[in-house]
Amino acid sequence: MSVVSGGDCIFCKIVAGTSDSQQIYQDDTTLAFMDIHPANDGHCLVIPKAHFETVFEMPPAAFGTVASTAAKVARVVNEVLRPGGISLLQANGELAGQSVLHVHVHVLPRVAGDDLLINWDRTRNEGHRRDRDRIAAIAERLRSRLNE
Ligand code: AMP
Ligand code: ZN
Repeated sequence: MSVVSGGDCIFCKIVAGTSDSQQIYQDDTTLAFMDIHPANDGHCLVIPKAHFETVFEMPPAAFGTVASTAAKVARVVNEVLRPGGISLLQANGELAGQSVLHVHVHVLPRVAGDDLLINWDRTRNEGHRRDRDRIAAIAERLRSRLNE
């Protein structure tokens, strides 16, 4: 997978207007535009205008503005295109499927039988991972950090 970042960031160029895009919405801090390789009709992206590689570098409240725009765009995509559903997706890191290192939320219309490989099997049954003690122990590690 090719990874784009730094001064060559394609999404920063879209924000600056030095690279073409089909923009559909912007406000002070966020921009929405059509994905150049749509997985389904209406697939678009919502980004912060400022460059952050992942949410880990981003103040949570700044991601809040992106989430707010994503919700607004998703609602309109849903009303205008009437897909069967919409997935909101956001990847951090190459392992998670991130190919452009500028935070973005995919607004991804879903249609019956599209077979997009983003839904894991909810009934996946790997014993140790659904062990209640294991879940509780992980929850405790996260809880204590989130509330310190
Ligand atoms: P991800 O793989 O989650 O990082 O998603 C990156 C997305 O950006 C992909 O769906 C690409 O099709 C899309 N993309 C890459 N370059 C452009 C571009 N110049 N304009 C619009 N979308 C782009
Ligand atoms: Zn950027």
